[in-house]
Amino acid sequence: MSSSILDGPGASYRAQRGPVLRARTWRAEGLLRMFENVLEVGENPDELIVYASLGKAARTWDEAHTIAATLLSLSEDQTLVLASGAAVGVLETGASAPLVLSAVNNTVGRWASPQRFYERAAAGQTMWGGLTAGAWQYIGRQGVLQGTYELFGTIARRSFDATAGREADALAGRWVLTSGMGGMGSSQPISAAMIGLSSLTVEVDPAKAARLADTGALDLVTTEIEEALEALSRARQERTVVAIGLIANAADVYPALAARGMGPDIVTDQTAAHDARYGYVPSGYSLTQWRSAQAEDPERLERDARASIAAQVTAMLTFAERGSVVFENGNNLRVQALEHLGEEAAADVNRIPGFMEAYLRPLFARGIGPFRWVCLSGSDADQRVLDDLAISLFGQRRPEVARWIELARTQIPAQGLPARSCWLGHGERSAFAVAANDLVADGTLEAPVLFSRDHLDSASMTHPRIGTEGMRDGSDGVTDFPLLDAMALAATGADLVAIHSGGGGYAGWMQSAGVTIVADGRPETAVRLRRSLDADTGLGVLRHAKRRLRRGCCQRRLRRGDRGGAAHLAPCQPSGGAPLTCAAGASRHRPASSLTTTLPERSPLNPSTPQPRSTP
Ligand code: NAD
Repeated sequence: MSSSILDGPGASYRAQRGPVLRARTWRAEGLLRMFENVLEVGENPDELIVYASLGKAARTWDEAHTIAATLLSLSEDQTLVLASGAAVGVLETGASAPLVLSAVNNTVGRWASPQRFYERAAAGQTMWGGLTAGAWQYIGRQGVLQGTYELFGTIARRSFDATAGREADALAGRWVLTSGMGGMGSSQPISAAMIGLSSLTVEVDPAKAARLADTGALDLVTTEIEEALEALSRARQERTVVAIGLIANAADVYPALAARGMGPDIVTDQTAAHDARYGYVPSGYSLTQWRSAQAEDPERLERDARASIAAQVTAMLTFAERGSVVFENGNNLRVQALEHLGEEAAADVNRIPGFMEAYLRPLFARGIGPFRWVCLSGSDADQRVLDDLAISLFGQRRPEVARWIELARTQIPAQGLPARSCWLGHGERSAFAVAANDLVADGTLEAPVLFSRDHLDSASMTHPRIGTEGMRDGSDGVTDFPLLDAMALAATGADLVAIHSGGGGYAGWMQSAGVTIVADGRPETAVRLRRSLDADTGLGVLRHAKRRLRRGCCQRRLRRGDRGGAAHLAPCQPSGGAPLTCAAGASRHRPASSLTTTLPERSPLNPSTPQPRSTP
């Protein structure tokens, strides 16, 4: 048996489906199918590029062939070791050790610059793993879609007085201005529509807009700003939801709208602005000129890109002054703008909050984050069974999970192997995975299921302008937790453990850990599933507990009682899972059996606490 990767570049890159094994175990087969899948759904598979401008699945095609061939022959007591997307060798480890250990572009601080990365990448010495690209965990735009949906929902509740579950009522007639329809950015109009928000998404590459329109996610694609604004205005009057793609440069459109005195309800951006050379097209450049300049005059291109980003950010600040809710959506937009504007602009620019600090951290504090499962069978029937399982396990205690699954199964266009991203927390993920393992064992599912998550999760990411911006203990740039997380995942028997550092424009900015584990139906797998998934989320809960507590969280929790005591204790109150011991408190306790959604009455993490407006 072969793999489409062994036929690349130029192959069809379809991931294997069905119940037949090519590798020696389902653990290895699952990892190989995900390697194939990230190319199937990736942006430019002939160059092994999966998403986020430069995020790659393997360093070179030769290395990709070696890795695929090794996965086909790997036995269960062996571990394939990868360094920056290249195979190092196979170690004899043991049946419960990871099958793949991968480290990507981890570089000492003084050498972690974009310039040095570009040079080494051009010489074939490294690659950027783009988080889920090099760890073969990318599932297409759905991977980020629920995160964007959650943050639009939080904005609706916090800024537009929506009640939970009825966000669409408060968002009727409102719209978001954003940009970028790439691998991740293309999720934006879909998640906006799912929550009941109209969108105007600016994209400079017509092919990207056409590709998204083909999925049915855009109601109108136009090159005319007037036509876009008329459609928005109609939707506002009729209180309907419309998704518009505008083919133009964001650096032109945002200032033009600001000059007209407009103020969209919500403003953000998801171009690959983090990479000034390969991720953001400057104003005045055609796509052909942009691609030529990457090789011919990269320094000038970077300067021009940063000047354009600064113009876009300046317009965003104007929108904010007019009352728009403005935030950065995880792409270092503010950092790039400041490179052009100079540090004297920092006070202004940094009034735009990052989405994690402003909206999503309360979920991370409870270990709730972007968990995902993939049906290795490729079967939609398996997908339906697992969707139903999530609803039956969590629907009562957390109705938002059931709501999400119902929306996702009807509104997210399929990409690659059937997959579901679902924000579950500590104890929930392992309970779900073990139940799915039983369904593999009893033959309800056609083939094993694979579990993973985004690298941007509770314990697994450090990026001081994304995942860990504004940590109260000052640990914004400290990478201990992603490294501890990877060690814990290897110790508990995950199938793939990856440690990634930033590349390209993210060089020097991030450290993350990734995990994949296959539910193949065996009883011993259930043990590894529970241990690994609980270790991952448990560490995240403890990370946030540690940074929030000054003293004795466990005792304080016991004093206040389980539910009302959420004040400083939400992190210690997950829904089952392995017992957690807080270093801040001496006692070891079992987490409560039900997950409260209560947050402290007056806490910066509570959406209902009066906040400084999220607009600058
Ligand atoms: P991508 O490279 O696949 O797509 C970027 C898109 O932006 C392309 O379609 C490109 O044509 C378009 N673009 C570039 N310059 C433009 C301009 N001036 N005007 C309009 N459009 C322009 O990248 P991606 O995978 O979509 O990721 C986008 C960004 O999101 C990256 O910085 C990535 O790191 C970040 N990201 C954020 C999260 C999150 O959780 N918020 C998750 C993953 C990725």
